[in-house]
Amino acid sequence: MVERSYEKFFRQNRLPHLWCPGCGNGIAMKAIVQAIEKIPELNQDNTVIVSGIGCSSRASGYMDFDTLHTAHGRAIPFATGIKLANPKLNVIVITGDGDCTAIGGNHFIHGCRRNIDLTVVLFNNNIYGMTGGQASPMTPLGKKATTAPYGSIDRPFNACHLAEAAGATYVARSTAYHVQHLVTMITGGIKNHGFSFIEAMVQCPTAYGRKNKMTDPAKMLEWMKDTAQMKNVWDKNPTDEKFPIGVLYQSTAGEIDYSSAYEKVIEMAGGI
Ligand code: SF4
Repeated sequence: MVERSYEKFFRQNRLPHLWCPGCGNGIAMKAIVQAIEKIPELNQDNTVIVSGIGCSSRASGYMDFDTLHTAHGRAIPFATGIKLANPKLNVIVITGDGDCTAIGGNHFIHGCRRNIDLTVVLFNNNIYGMTGGQASPMTPLGKKATTAPYGSIDRPFNACHLAEAAGATYVARSTAYHVQHLVTMITGGIKNHGFSFIEAMVQCPTAYGRKNKMTDPAKMLEWMKDTAQMKNVWDKNPTDEKFPIGVLYQSTAGEIDYSSAYEKVIEMAGGI
């Protein structure tokens, strides 16, 4: 059997994973390790993976780094503590749409506001998968969930807009269909010295698909292929029928990241 170079980043004794057949979470997880592999300075000793709770957050258990599987919505505060304690570490957060934008929403916007040097990858499956298919703040209008049997009437967050407005210095989106593009978006996020946010759209045939007559994972991927547009194309004709992928925002203002600002405070206070 051919061993792929990125396989060393997985805890083989924890596999096979428990995600449903056809789930997109594995694609996004693999994209993260491929992004790590592309950056020679990153290794298993200087990279930390932190996740919250939900289907997506199971990923940290399969990844052979120093990992923390934390409390619901609290991955960003845990990651902030790690980064402040040791700014040399590369800290990557894996979260889901429910974890990041509902119970963890306040932590999310304040992480962006502080511009703490984290790379947050949000696996967006548009629903709470693990807890039984409840609507999340990113369930599209009119789509069904166990808590929205007639279709959701709550307007969804555009998490990329939210991240940019709250102060993130790198914001990107890609999908489980556009695998190499997703790897590139995550690589860019890791390289950005500040708060990076990447929305990875993933298919959930079990909780979301079953409720919305899209139980075939291949068809869900096809929908992503047909509906996503590269940002430069979408910008020419912005339409709700499509959504843009690519780097949606990158600050060029050279804002200081939070750990660097904090080190200055320590210096002013006479060191530790
Ligand atoms: Fe994946 Fe959905 Fe199954 Fe969770 S419920 S493992 S997101 S397919």
